Amino acid sequence: MDGILKQKARQAARYAYRQKRFKSLPCAICGSRPTEMHHPDYTKPIDVVWLCVKHHKELHWNSYVKKPRTKKMTKTEELRQKHRETIARLQREALQ
Ligand SMILES: [Zn+2]
Ligand SMILES: [Zn+2]
Repeated sequence: MDGILKQKARQAARYAYRQKRFKSLPCAICGSRPTEMHHPDYTKPIDVVWLCVKHHKELHWNSYVKKPRTKKMTKTEELRQKHRETIARLQREALQ
C-alpha cells in the first residue's frame, strides 16, 4: 500500500515537472545543484523538497536510524520551512 502511494507520488511529481508546474530548485540545505526531489509526505505529490544528492542521502539515512520521533519531525518541518523560503525567494526574483 505504502509502496503504491510512493510510486504514485513520484509519477505525479514527475508529470508536474514535465508540465513545468515547478522547476528544480537549489538544495534546500546548502543551495547547490543538481538536486533531486524529496517527498516529505507522499500523500501530497506536489509538495516536494529539492535536495542535492548528498543531503538527500543524509536525510534518508537519518530517517533509517532509530531516533526519537520528535527529532525526525523537526527535521522534516525544518526542511519544509527552508523549501518555502526558497520558493518565496525565487518568486520574488521572478517578479523583478
Ligand atoms: Zn545540499
Ligand atoms: Zn527522498
